[in-house]
Amino acid sequence: MTESTWTPGDPIRNRADYIESLRGRDLNVWLLGERVVEPVDHPIIRPSINAVAATYDLVVEQPELASEKSELTGETVNRFLHVAGSADDVVAQNKMQRRLGQLTGTCFQRCVGMDAINSGYTVTYNIDAAHGTGYHERFKDWLAVVQHQNLVVGGAMTDVKGDRSKGPSEQADPDMFVHIVERREDGIVIRGAKAHQTGCINSHWILVMPTMRLTEADAEYAVVAAIPVETAGLTFIYGRQSCDTRAMEPGGLDVGNALYSGQEALIVIDDVFVPWEHVFMDGEVEFAAELVERFTTYHRRSYVCKAGVGDVLIGAAALIADYNGVADASHIKDKLVEMAHLNETIYGAGIAASYESTPTPAGNYENDGLLANVCKQNVTRFPYEIGRLAQDLAGGAVVTLPSAHEWDHPDLGPLLEKYFQGREGVPTEHRVRVLRLIENMTMGRNAVGYLTESLHGAGSPQAQRIQIGRQMEIEEKKGFAKHLAGIEEQGTEG
Ligand code: SF4
Ligand code: FE
Repeated sequence: MTESTWTPGDPIRNRADYIESLRGRDLNVWLLGERVVEPVDHPIIRPSINAVAATYDLVVEQPELASEKSELTGETVNRFLHVAGSADDVVAQNKMQRRLGQLTGTCFQRCVGMDAINSGYTVTYNIDAAHGTGYHERFKDWLAVVQHQNLVVGGAMTDVKGDRSKGPSEQADPDMFVHIVERREDGIVIRGAKAHQTGCINSHWILVMPTMRLTEADAEYAVVAAIPVETAGLTFIYGRQSCDTRAMEPGGLDVGNALYSGQEALIVIDDVFVPWEHVFMDGEVEFAAELVERFTTYHRRSYVCKAGVGDVLIGAAALIADYNGVADASHIKDKLVEMAHLNETIYGAGIAASYESTPTPAGNYENDGLLANVCKQNVTRFPYEIGRLAQDLAGGAVVTLPSAHEWDHPDLGPLLEKYFQGREGVPTEHRVRVLRLIENMTMGRNAVGYLTESLHGAGSPQAQRIQIGRQMEIEEKKGFAKHLAGIEEQGTEG
C-alpha cells in the first residue's frame, strides 16, 4: 500500500489517507480496562477500522456505486455523505450497502451517519419553516465541509435511558438522556451518554440526536449537535465482542474473519461545549419524534447490509458442504435455497422501500416507511434462521475445532490434519478456515453485527411492529373487503 501524505484539513482520498487521519488523535478510548493510546494499531480495534476503510476503497474501485455529485459543493462526494436528491440515489445507497456487506462480512459502520445526515437535512428545514430559525443553512455549511474533506460521520442517537418507564425529564438522574446543561453566548454545553455507538471511534464527527418523542418538559433534551470526535470531554468505552481476544493471538487461523469486524462503544459526554454553528436543534421538542421517525425510516431499510453479509454466510455454508463432500445431496441444496430465499426477502423489502422514495419538503428524497419497517422486522428474524442453517451444514466441528496452537504442534498437528480432513483434494486447512468463518459470523465476533445488531439496531422488533401497525392502512384494507363483499356503508359502521 502507498504511504499517505495526508495532513489535517486535506480531503481524504483513499484507505491510506483515512487510516492516517485516525492517527495521533489522543482520544480517551478504553478497552479491557486499559486506555488505548493509538486505536489504529490495536489488534482488536484494527479490523473495525479496516471495515470503514473498505468504504473508501469502494469509491476508488466502483465510483458509480459509492459516490455521487453533491448539490452543496458541486464536487463528487462519498455516497455515505451525500444528500439523496432522487429515488435513484436512495436505491444506490442500498446497492452500495449490500456490496460492502459482501466485501467485509460485517458492519462497515457508516450507514448511521448517512441516515442521520439525510434525516437531519429534512428536519432542520422543517424546524426553520415552523420557527424561523437558521438551522438548515448551518447544517448545510457544516455538511459541505465534511463532504469536501471526505470525513466519517457517526450518528449518535441511542441514550442509556435509565428507568425505561420514565421520560428524560422524569428520571432520578437527569443525565440518562443527553441534555443541555448550559447555554452560553457562543454555544451550548451538553452532558450524558450514548450507548451502542457503531463505529464512533472510527469516525471524525459524531452527530448527537434525541432518541425518542419528547414533551414540553424535555426542552433541554431536544438537542442536535455535531461534535468532532477528538473533542475534550468525550470518553469512549469499547464494547466486548465474543472471541475478540483471538485477534491478539498470532497466526489468525482461529479468528474466522481476520480482516474485518464491527465496532460498538459507549460514548460518555462530560460537559462538552458545542459552538452555535454546530447546533442544529435547541429546544424544539416537537421535532424530536419527527427526527427519530425520519432517521429510522432511512435506517431500517439500510439493513440490507445484512443481505450482503448473508451472501458471505450462504457462500460459507455452500463451501463447507462442498468440502464435506455432500454438495450434491438434495437436502443440502434445499437448505441453501432456503437461505437464499430468506436473504433475498430481506433485500427485497429494503430495496423496494428505496424505489418507493418520495421528496421531502426540503427537496431531498426519503424511502417508504412501511416497507423499511418490514425490511428491518425481517432482519430481526431471518439472519438467525440463516445462521442456524449454516451451522446445520457446518456440523458440530464448528464448535469443537481445536485451536491454532494444536495445529502448530509437531505431534498434534499431523493428527488433526488427518482426522479433520473432508473430501479428497480439499486441504484440511481450508475446511478449518471456513468453519471458523461460520463460527465468527454465527457466534463469534461478527455475530454481534450479523445477529444481535440485526435484532436491536435501528430499534428492537417491537419498534417496527408499532410503525407497521401505524402505517398498514387497515381502514383502507377493510374498505377493499367491504366493497367486494357487497357490504353497503351504513351510518357509523365506517
Ligand atoms: Fe450499516 Fe448495517 Fe452497520 Fe447499520 S449494521 S451501520 S446498516 S452496515
Ligand atoms: Fe445499527
